[in-house]
Amino acid sequence: MQLSFEFFPPRTSQGKLNLKKTRQELSAVNPHYFSTTFGAGGTTQDATLETVLDIQANDNIAAAPHLSCIDSEKSKILSLLKQYQAAGINRIVALRGDIPSGVRDIGDFHYANELVEFIRHEFNDHFHIEVAAYPEMHPQAKNMDADIKHFVNKIKAGANSAITQYFYNADAYFRFKDEVQKHGIDIPITPGIMPITNYDQLMRFSNMCGAEIPRWIEKRLSTFGDDSASLNAFGFEVVAQLCDQLKSQGVEDFHFYSMNKSKPSLQLAQGLIE
Ligand code: FAD
Repeated sequence: MQLSFEFFPPRTSQGKLNLKKTRQELSAVNPHYFSTTFGAGGTTQDATLETVLDIQANDNIAAAPHLSCIDSEKSKILSLLKQYQAAGINRIVALRGDIPSGVRDIGDFHYANELVEFIRHEFNDHFHIEVAAYPEMHPQAKNMDADIKHFVNKIKAGANSAITQYFYNADAYFRFKDEVQKHGIDIPITPGIMPITNYDQLMRFSNMCGAEIPRWIEKRLSTFGDDSASLNAFGFEVVAQLCDQLKSQGVEDFHFYSMNKSKPSLQLAQGLIE
């Protein structure tokens, strides 16, 4: 079983200290890699580089930077990739990213498949390339078939494997995998697991990224109010059941959206390897 954990790059010195502690605690489950988001939620791109280099130099765990290509130039992406290569990094999560509002000139890349193609062309097989997958459909896709076709294009462009957007309905994940296989694609598609610890934050993220919170879960979560202990206990139970279900149906690898906290993901990960 391969476990990976995702962080966002902290902006404050306290945030950096907290993340160091989180990384140390998560090391207990021998992660395959730690990934760091890029430019998401207004974080700066320099902060990604700093976090990734720190992980690669100090953690004894492979660092995997996310890299989004929208609103960027080939020369800038190339220079960043060269810095990663020089630091011994060989795994990249290649993304389009979200188009910033008001931006007309979106730069040298339009979609993630073009970034994948560019990395392969410039670096041959140096990088293991992960791409994003959306079992419940990317919110801007015309329909599910079109989204799957675009996903397949990323694999044909040279991606090795994928990480999914989070979901709470395992059927969506298995259906997505089956449909991708019908296109003759058989690559690892690792479920992205989002622990449930904060009702407002989860609703906000899910509205943005198009992940569905099943009605029964939402209704329960909305009743906890300030009782975070009960919310955490319920959230843990729901997500642990999802992980068990995925595992019992053959899933071997799991990627956790840690939100820079160790406890929620660690508990789930420990449950999986017991
Ligand atoms: P793409 O695969 O390019 O797809 C984007 C949309 O365009 C889809 O609707 C697709 O169907 C459509 N499309 C693709 N090709 C074509 C085509 N040729 N013609 C027409 N339509 C097309 N965001 C960040 O900013 N930073 C991060 O670090 C980050 N990390 C992420 C990690 C994971 C695991 C996931 C699942 C998402 C992450 N995101 C991140 C969010 C992601 O950037 C957004 O979801 C973004 O809107 C799409 O990126 P993508 O790489 O999936 O794009």
